[in-house]
Amino acid sequence: MIKKVLKFGGTSVGTIERIQHVANIIKNEYDNGNQIIAIVSAMSGKTNELIKFSKNISANFDKRELDVLLSSGEQVTCALLAGALLELKLNAKSWLNWQIPILTEGDHSNARIINMNVSQINDFLKKGIAVVPGFQGISERGDITTIGRGGSDATAVAFAKLFDAETCEIYTDVDGVYSSDPNKIPVAKKIDKISYDEMLELSSLGAKVMQSSAVQTAMMYNIPLEVKSTFTNRKGTKIFDQHGIDYSKSVTGVAYSKDDAKITLIGVEDKPGVAANIFEPLEKVQINVDMVIQNISSIEKKTDITFTIKRDDLEKTKKILEENNKIKYQDITYNDKVAKVSIVGAGMVSTPGVTYKMFKGLADKKINILAISTSEIKLSVIIDENNTLDAVKKLHTIFDLD
Ligand code: ASP
Ligand code: MG
Repeated sequence: MIKKVLKFGGTSVGTIERIQHVANIIKNEYDNGNQIIAIVSAMSGKTNELIKFSKNISANFDKRELDVLLSSGEQVTCALLAGALLELKLNAKSWLNWQIPILTEGDHSNARIINMNVSQINDFLKKGIAVVPGFQGISERGDITTIGRGGSDATAVAFAKLFDAETCEIYTDVDGVYSSDPNKIPVAKKIDKISYDEMLELSSLGAKVMQSSAVQTAMMYNIPLEVKSTFTNRKGTKIFDQHGIDYSKSVTGVAYSKDDAKITLIGVEDKPGVAANIFEPLEKVQINVDMVIQNISSIEKKTDITFTIKRDDLEKTKKILEENNKIKYQDITYNDKVAKVSIVGAGMVSTPGVTYKMFKGLADKKINILAISTSEIKLSVIIDENNTLDAVKKLHTIFDLD
C-alpha cells in the first residue's frame, strides 16, 4: 500500500461540481489501493474576499481574528469534499487543525508548521480517506494560525514529510511546469522532470505553480513532488533531486517578471564603506536588493551604483535614499519600466558558452541589457519592459526549447 498526499488548489475546488470531480479522482486513487490524505485550498478567490471583508471593518483588523476568518475558507472545502466522498460510499472524514492537532510556531498569518500528531490519522488511513484543510494550524496557546498565502502547498509537504508519504501530488489548473509562460509563449513545452533547484528559480521568477517555501521544504527532506492538472488526465511534472535527471539541454526554462525597478546613483564617492552606507538602511526595513552593479563614473574618483528591487518597494526606497545623509551622490535615477528575463537550467553548470549565447541572442534582437546577474543555474538580465516577450521568445528558440 502506497501512502499519498494529494493537494487540491483553489480552482480545483472552486465549485461544487469541481469538488465532486476531485472526489472522483480520490476515489480512483483509493480504489487502486493507495492510502490517501487530501489537502484542500479554499475555493478560488475566497481568501481574497475574506481579506476584503476584514478591511471593510478595519484597516488594522486584529491579527488573531484575521486568522480565524481566513482559516474558514479551507474548512468549507474540507467539509464539502469529505461529504462528496461519503456520497460516493467511501469512508472519509475531515480533520481540522485543532483535532489533529497541527502545531505551528511564529506570528499570526505567517506561522510555520512544526509538528503534528500522526497516530490517529495513521490509524484512520487503514480504513478511510482523511481530508485536511490546508494553510493553517494552531499555536502553542491553542489559537488558530495561518501559514502565509499559498500555504496549502506547505501543508501538503509537511504532511508528506510527517506521514512519510511516498509522493506529494499538487493538483492545479495547469498540467505542469512549462519551459516558459504557456499563455504568452505558445511554443512553450511541458517539462516532464525538473530538479528542486530549477523549480525554485523558475517559481521565484514568476512561474508561480507552487509556493517556493514548500518546494524548499520538499528539497530539504527529499520529498518527491508532482504538479498535475485536476482537469486533464495528462502526466504532470515530477520534481525531485537533480541526480535522477538527465540534462541533455543546458537550459530548462525561460522565465520573466515585471515586478522589478532599477535605481542608479550617479557620482557616488569611490571609497570603502560607501556601498554599505547605501544598503544598510534598506536592509533594516527588509527591502530585498536583487542585482547590484558598480561601474566607473565619468566623474573622477566617483562611481555609479545601479541596483534592482521589487517595484512595490520603490517609493519606500526612494524616501530612504533621499533621506540618507550618510551618502553623497550627484544624481539619482529611477526606472520602473523594466523586466527581468532569466534562463534557468541545472545543465548550465557543465555547458560552456551559455552566457555568450544569451547576450548574442539579445543583441540580434537589438535589445539593450541594463543589468546582469548570475548564479550557478541561472542567468538574469534586466531589460526595457517593452522588449520582454521578444527576449523570452528569442531565448526560448536559441536554447532549443520550442
Ligand atoms: N487559500 C490560501 C490562499 O489563497 C492558501 C492556499 O490557497 O494555498 O493564499
Ligand atoms: Mg494556491
